[in-house]
Amino acid sequence: MTEIIDGESVAADVRDAVADEVSRLSDAGVGPGLATVLMSDDAASETYVSMKQRDCEEVGIESFHVEIDAGAPASELYETIDDLNGRDDVHGILVQLPLPDHVDKRTVLRRIAPEKDVDGFHPENVGRLVAGDARFKPCTPHGVQKLLDAYDVETEGADAVVVGRSDIVGKPMANLLIQKSPTGNATTTVCHSRTEDLEAKLAGADIVVAAAGIPEFVDGSTLKSGATVIDVGINRVDADTEKGYELVGDVDYESAKDVAGAITPVPGGVGPMTRAMLLYNTVKAAGLQRDVAVDL
Ligand code: NDP
Repeated sequence: MTEIIDGESVAADVRDAVADEVSRLSDAGVGPGLATVLMSDDAASETYVSMKQRDCEEVGIESFHVEIDAGAPASELYETIDDLNGRDDVHGILVQLPLPDHVDKRTVLRRIAPEKDVDGFHPENVGRLVAGDARFKPCTPHGVQKLLDAYDVETEGADAVVVGRSDIVGKPMANLLIQKSPTGNATTTVCHSRTEDLEAKLAGADIVVAAAGIPEFVDGSTLKSGATVIDVGINRVDADTEKGYELVGDVDYESAKDVAGAITPVPGGVGPMTRAMLLYNTVKAAGLQRDVAVDL
């Protein structure tokens, strides 16, 4: 029987643990706060930001929101970040990506104070992750790690294949999988658009993390029987639904679910975990900044 990995349920557990820590921190005089910054007219980005605000509310994290006109000069965003960096009530700063073309993403990510970089994208935090001394693990791969742990998926000695090498998913995911730790110790292959014979790599994988951004890209016929399949992809495809589209992952769920030993659905797999881990990082950030131990 294939096990369906329930991201909603594991994310709910993470949120409960976060809510407990928020109330403990609040008793100690620390009210964790997250600032979201939106510089885009993109409807999906607006939705993501409002979901993050709602998530904060649910666990008792104070949320602050700044909207900057998409056509404004980059300096306006820099000034906003500088202001948020200096505020005592803001412990985490999240600049929603993507940014307009005239704004350099790398410059923006470097501007965020590393101790408030709850996305984990600042070079200092990337370096710490690679060195096995993570301050904030990026939310999506951290969420995947939590799912694997929650479902007792053995990573030690496993052959893992990560499909995708982006800075926000593929690379940090691979880094977590190779860490010398009980939730790492996997032999990890990172695949990308120039990989030759992806199918041969998939065929040998005990764990597959699919993050290619291509709808239903990984077919069940390419998977090893019993593999754990983590589908990070979120793709909108046209469909005869009320909204005119449906969400599918990077794995062809129908063909994969009978071959896999365990699999995440889309939606309801990795997505809720990404959201929960942002709350986790915000509480961790508040504890670190105010020198109060956080038990997460
Ligand atoms: P990117 O587009 O930044 O990266 C995609 C990666 O896939 C690239 O490294 C690319 O290779 C690789 N790729 C493309 N084509 C192929 C191919 N034919 N064979 C093998 N590899 C290929 O995407 P992201 O990492 O940002 O996101 C990946 C997916 O995850 C998307 O569907 C996104 O929506 C989703 N996502 C979901 C989240 C969640 O919470 N569930 C959070 C973040 C993202 P190359 O580098 O050579 O171009």
